[in-house]
Formats: sequence, structure tokens, C-alpha cells
Amino acid sequence: MHDLVQHSIDGALMSGSGARRADVFDPALGTVARQVVQGTASDVDAAVRAARRAFPAWAATPPLARARVMFRFRDLLEKHANRLAAIITAEHGKVLSDALGEVTRGMEVVEYATAAPELLKGEFTEQAGRNIDAYTVRQPLGVAAGITPFNFPVMVPLWMAPMALAAGNCFILKPSERDPSASLVLAELLAEAGLPKGVFQVVQGDKEVVDAILQHPGIEAVSFVGSTPIARYIHQTGIGYGKRVQALGGAKNHAVVMPDCELDKTVDALMGAAYGSAGERCMAISVAVAVGGVADRLVEALAPRVRTLQIGVGTDKSSEMGPLVTGVHRDKVSAYVDAGVREGASLVVDGRGLKLQGYESGFFIGGTLFDHVTPEMSIYREEIFGPVLGVVRVPDFDAALALVNEHEFGNGTAIFTRDGDTARAFAHGVQAGMVGINVPIPVPMAFHSFGGWKASLFGDHHMHGPEGIRFYTKLKAVTARWPTGIRAGAEFQMPTLG
Ligand code: NAD
Repeated sequence: MHDLVQHSIDGALMSGSGARRADVFDPALGTVARQVVQGTASDVDAAVRAARRAFPAWAATPPLARARVMFRFRDLLEKHANRLAAIITAEHGKVLSDALGEVTRGMEVVEYATAAPELLKGEFTEQAGRNIDAYTVRQPLGVAAGITPFNFPVMVPLWMAPMALAAGNCFILKPSERDPSASLVLAELLAEAGLPKGVFQVVQGDKEVVDAILQHPGIEAVSFVGSTPIARYIHQTGIGYGKRVQALGGAKNHAVVMPDCELDKTVDALMGAAYGSAGERCMAISVAVAVGGVADRLVEALAPRVRTLQIGVGTDKSSEMGPLVTGVHRDKVSAYVDAGVREGASLVVDGRGLKLQGYESGFFIGGTLFDHVTPEMSIYREEIFGPVLGVVRVPDFDAALALVNEHEFGNGTAIFTRDGDTARAFAHGVQAGMVGINVPIPVPMAFHSFGGWKASLFGDHHMHGPEGIRFYTKLKAVTARWPTGIRAGAEFQMPTLG
């Protein structure tokens, strides 16, 4: 990793035209590890110009040839998986095994994108009219941009870029300024895989770059993943500038725990889903909805597990949970725990004030467990994005379903039960985009599409899978008559089959 993280524009690393720099931390030590350049509108413009130069040739490259670049990219990702995981852990803080899992889940989208010739096949109707054939094709949009969050610095860019590139677009990535180094490895590996320069580029920065992307007339589409207020802003601003926008936002994912569930397995599932990656996952479970008589047993089983969570640096193989990404974020999570206590929730396990020997300045916080959380509390309503799990007690299934459905967010949700009827009723009736049945983090595989409902997604398309192809292509319908010539001279009525 470099001391100064740069842009990758038109095949070259450069610092761009801006003088601003942002600090990138080592979250385990709590110290500044390096800096990242903060781009300007003119850096965005340079990238867009390079992309537009590269676009005609890339769009004209046969899908099979584009797929072969994806095949090579996939192999390079596998070869460099440990290097990428180490970079993720160094800047994000998550444990290495989790970082490797992130790389694998991103690689799966590349694997899906290798099917470009199949995915881009159109439809054909012979003899749609007399001597008339009709067909539809999907063509690339042009230049697409992706703006990504800190919590998956490899996987989320790979939700977007392989789909956009395989479909024949050029792609500009604006990574999170908190963990920007991995983006340059993606650029390096794509170049090594044979992607022509200008087709994939990275512009580092913050709001200034984002606004330049939203306003630039040379960018056709914007994919965003991040918090809900920014997602809403990106969607409204982007469509105002006539762009196609998909903007995925925040979450408050509920796990409904039915009295008939297998409690041990449910507790295992909740531990990983609530505290894995220190809760900094958009699919983290942050609310356990205990139905009927299960609540006391659930809290009794969870509490000792939360107390004995192995918290340490991400590179230590025995760590189950690393630090949070920044000190500011750690303080925000801690303030939510204060608020929960103030608002009257029962604090069963308190993770505040954790200091690790040798890492006293690291951004660590312990796992926290609240019981008797109620819907009007801020710890219930708002996304905390930390290792804090709240238990809400409800009398029955209907009350559990209503609770999930009334929440502002609708990203993922899960139910733990042995009863098929209950599971089906939940999957059918719940207002969320991704549903797990005895699966705590139901992140769809690459060949399905990822996305939430309600305030968790703005726009019409989910990410990757079939929806990814739709988002990054425009449909064209061609109607052709052979032999040539109009049958009966000029026709002034609406053409019909007869
Ligand atoms: P964030 O919204 O702070 O930042 C996301 C991106 O937006 C970054 O690239 C950032 O530079 C940019 N940005 C930040 N403030 C901006 C502003 N005022 N104007 C324009 N751009 C701005 O999110 P984050 O803290 O990096 O990531 C965590 C959030 O992302 C959580 O809310 C989490 O739920 C969400 N998330 C959602 C999904 C999903 O699939 N729905 C996946 C991962 C993360």
C-alpha cells in the first residue's frame, strides 16, 4: 500500500488537480496510516473524457471477448485474494477470514459476468408481421459511475463494475475515502486482465467528486451504496440530471425468533449476524424479535456469548470481531448505547469503554446486548451500524410481522422456526427485499439480485444478477421487413397485422 492513495485515470496513477487530502486510519492502532487524495470536478471530467474515448471500442468488443477479460480478472482476484483481504483488514478493521469472504463474494459477481454472451442475448420473433421480423437487443449505456461505502471496499465495487463492464460500459469508481486502497488493486488487476485503459477508472474523494459525477453530462448512470440520507440525495439529484440511478441505503434488519426454533442454532446465527464485522454490515441483524415465551431463554443464551466475544485485531486468527472503522464512528455507536440506557431499554451486556492491551488507542468497542427495546426508542428506529443487538418482545407472529413491516427500512430480514406454514407466511407477507428462513444474512448469490425495499433502496433496479444487466443496458426493439418496400404505397393509419 502506498503512503498516498491516488486516482487511477486513463491507465495511470495520478494525484489529480486537488490539494485536499483525507486521513486513512489503521483502526486497530487508532493512528493515521496514510492519506488519500481528494478529487475535484476536473478530475472527474478527465476520467469521463478518457472513458468516452475508450467506450466505442469497448462497446464494439464482442461479448465473448469481454467475458474473457472477466475470466482472467476472476483468476487474478483469486491469486491476489490474500493481498486484498490484508488491505481490507488494514483499513476497515474486519477480521481476515471475513475479509477473505468478502473477496470471494465479490469474485462470484465476476464469475456471473463471464456469462456476458448468454446474459446479453436478445429476443427474436420471426414473422412478427408478413415478411417482418422483430428483435430486441440490449446495448450498453456509455459511462457508468459507482459510489461505494466503507464497509465492503472490495465486494460492493464488484457488485457493480463487472456487470457494467461485461455489458460494454466504461465504469468510474468513487470508493469510500475511509478505505480507498483496495480500489487501486482492482484497477491494477483489471488492467492485467486485458481491460483497455479508460474502461475502468478510480477517482478518489468525497462529496465534491460525488456532486461532479451527478452533474456530469457524460455519465449516463450512477450506482450508489451507502447510508439512506445520502442514497436519497444521490437518487433525487441524479435523476434530476437525467441519469439512471440505483441507490441502496441503510438498514435495520430484524430476525424473528419463533418459540419453536432450534434455540442453539438460532443463537449461533444471531451472534454471527449481529457481531460479525462489528455490526458494520448492511445485512447485519440488529433487532431480534422474540415471539411469545422464547424471550427469556433467548436473552439468557445470548448474554454469555456476547460477554465472551473474542475481540482483537483483525490479523489475529483468534479474533471474532475487530475494531470499528474510525474513532468518530466508535463514539457514535457508544452514544447510541447511552441513548438506549436513557430511553429505558435494559442493558444486558455493555460494550462501551473497551480497551485492548497494546491497542489502547484502537477503535474498539465490545459487543452490546439490549433487552426490552421498544419501537419508539432511537436504538430501534435508527441504524447504529455497530455491534449492538436489541431484543424486542412481542406476543405472537402477527405482532412480529407487523413490527417488521412498520419499520422505515426494508433491506433484509430473517425468521427462525421449524414450522413451514409460519415460514411461508413470513416470506410472503414481509415488506423487505431479502428474506432468510433459518438463514440470518440472506445475501443473494451473484446470479440473483441484491436490494432492499422502502428506505433501503431508491430506484427501480437491484444490484448484480439479472437486474444488474438490466440496469447497465438499454433495450432496443428492431422491426425489419425483407424483401424491402412498403406493400401498398404510403400508409397513414396505425400499422396493424391485417
Ligand atoms: P455513507 O453514506 O457515509 O458513504 C457512502 C458513499 O457516499 C461514500 O463513497 C462517501 O464518500 C459518499 N458520501 C458521504 N457523504 C456524502 C455526501 N454528503 N454527499 C455525497 N456523497 C457522500 O456510508 P458509509 O458510512 O460509507 O457506509 C455505511 C452505510 O452504507 C450504512 O448505512 C449501510 O447500511 C450502508 N450500506 C448499505 C448497503 C446496501 O446494500 N443497502 C450495503 C453496504 C452498506
